[in-house]
Amino acid sequence: MGKKVAVIGAGISGLSTAYVLANNGFEVTVLAKAFSPNTTSNRAAAFWFPYHVRGDKRAITWVETSYRYFKKLSLDTASGISFKKIVKGIKQGIIDDDSWMAFMPANTCTELSTKQLPNGYRQGFEANVPLVETQLFLPYLQHVLTNKGVVFKEANITDLHTVALSYNVVVNCTGLGASVLCNDSRIFPVRGQVILVEPGFPDAIFLDNQTPTYIVPRQDATIIGGTYEEHVGVETTEPKTLEQLLAKASNVFAQLQHKRIIGNWAGLRPFRDTVRLEQEANTNIIHNYGHGGSGFTLSFGCAEAVLQLIKP
Ligand SMILES: Cc1cc2nc3c(=O)[nH]c(=O)nc-3n(C[C@H](O)[C@H](O)[C@H](O)COP(=O)(O)OP(=O)(O)OC[C@H]3O[C@@H](n4cnc5c(N)ncnc54)[C@H](O)[C@@H]3O)c2cc1C
Repeated sequence: MGKKVAVIGAGISGLSTAYVLANNGFEVTVLAKAFSPNTTSNRAAAFWFPYHVRGDKRAITWVETSYRYFKKLSLDTASGISFKKIVKGIKQGIIDDDSWMAFMPANTCTELSTKQLPNGYRQGFEANVPLVETQLFLPYLQHVLTNKGVVFKEANITDLHTVALSYNVVVNCTGLGASVLCNDSRIFPVRGQVILVEPGFPDAIFLDNQTPTYIVPRQDATIIGGTYEEHVGVETTEPKTLEQLLAKASNVFAQLQHKRIIGNWAGLRPFRDTVRLEQEANTNIIHNYGHGGSGFTLSFGCAEAVLQLIKP
């Protein structure tokens, strides 16, 4: 294949794909309807953790590769990526599906002693994982890409095959947009609502993916999530749900109930039973979409997989 590539989409899937391809000598143009801060990727929590990928063995390499990329990118403090302790709690009466452990890089995860367990939890684990502050990282990455010669154009693409006539390769990273663009009925929205309180507490990320509750300490806010609402396609929050999120988190860390509320948002995860990462038969189109609740965790690993398809 030749060197001229169009990446459709400017969320984390599109930007990470553009990054890996530009680093490997491709001439990349990113075409997207919306850019940061107006993508789903901006609304992610966005810590590295293998959600929704567990049955997919391809994801073991993808998540490890992303972890490695985030580690390297975190060396630049302007990137908005840091490594944080994550505490994963499992409540009394809950049998945790522990298959996520197979996806953790070697020696990154340890079990907590009873004394270290958060309030109300019978078992817990801790690990060191990348936290991607989307408000910093997405504009940063776009800036890095511009300096590498990547061109950004606003465009609403209605036919990938038409775009494919003008490029050697087209990579489709449109997230939920693929539902219409590829007439793919396997992709649907899963809404996540979060409430934001003033930053400064706690130090570590907290995750209980059964309830589900996550608490994510960013520089600009502590994000408290979340909901997992299948087939809800409106990006709105509900005051009652936000109240419940704060109450659940305050049961784990009582201090949170005294924090000033500074915002909220909802985002639509592009859920698909498996990530679509393949070349469409007899075309120069490669699909990279359907990352559900793991778009950041999978991002650079999927981008590397795209590179392998282009340059075996
Ligand atoms: C509340 C919440 C919390 C989350 N937390 C985490 C987390 O902690 N860790 C994690 O790994 N993931 C998390 N996620 C999931 C993550 O946000 C997604 O998996 C990820 O953002 C998907 O990225 P994407 O680039 O594929 O899609 P998007 O970010 O939606 O980007 C799609 C791009 O394609 C463009 N596009 C679409 N259609 C067209 C078209 N026809 N023409 C041109 N352009 C088009 C859009 O404009 C956009 O630029 C969370 C999600 C939510 C909602």
